[in-house]
Amino acid sequence: MSNHDYVIDPPALVCVPVVGGGQFPVRRIFCVGRNYADHVREMGGDPSLEKPVFFTKPADAVLIGGAVMDYPPQTADLHHEIELVVAIGQGGANIAQDSALGHVFGYAVGLDMTRRDLQAQYKAKGQPWDMAKAFDQSAPIGAIARASVIGHPTAGKITLTVNGAPRQQGDLAQMILPVAAIIASLSQYVTLASGDLIFTGTPDGVGPVQRGDLLQGSVAGVGEVRTQIV
Ligand code: MN
Repeated sequence: MSNHDYVIDPPALVCVPVVGGGQFPVRRIFCVGRNYADHVREMGGDPSLEKPVFFTKPADAVLIGGAVMDYPPQTADLHHEIELVVAIGQGGANIAQDSALGHVFGYAVGLDMTRRDLQAQYKAKGQPWDMAKAFDQSAPIGAIARASVIGHPTAGKITLTVNGAPRQQGDLAQMILPVAAIIASLSQYVTLASGDLIFTGTPDGVGPVQRGDLLQGSVAGVGEVRTQIV
């Protein structure tokens, strides 16, 4: 294959650093919505009636560890959502829940940044959420920790502070669909591939951020993410 066949410059590969060295090339970003009951309730929903839902962001929505995030256009209500992120190392379709964790390369901490005002408008009209979720820099993410080093976390504190003040405090054990169930379910809709990231949903306490705010998130045993809004 020769480079000069491209009629425009090919897009740069988006990569997330791995703890201990190396880069994880990102193929796609999947996200789970409504995966913590208290967050479903704070959004006005009923967790007994609403199942978790999948949506996507483009790979180049990734904002690497510690970089500043520009306050995005077309919103006056930018929200934080702290999430455990799964990095897929081995793809597959119709993956069994028993073997699902074998497809995981590692885990990171991410922020599913959301234009909440647009999302509310789209929901009310039954329109797609994409422009509320899949915008530039909407996926800040920390370094990926290898599962071979940290294991597969099923419980542990997931927290976010804004300017040092607590905003979100949950536990991975509260996930309606745990990681293995997410992989099993999502792989019934698409063939997962190495390089895919899955944002696994946010606990309650989501809220708005302003220019100048410093967001610092962590998941016990996994790592951290930080960004400042400018
Ligand atoms: Mn989310």
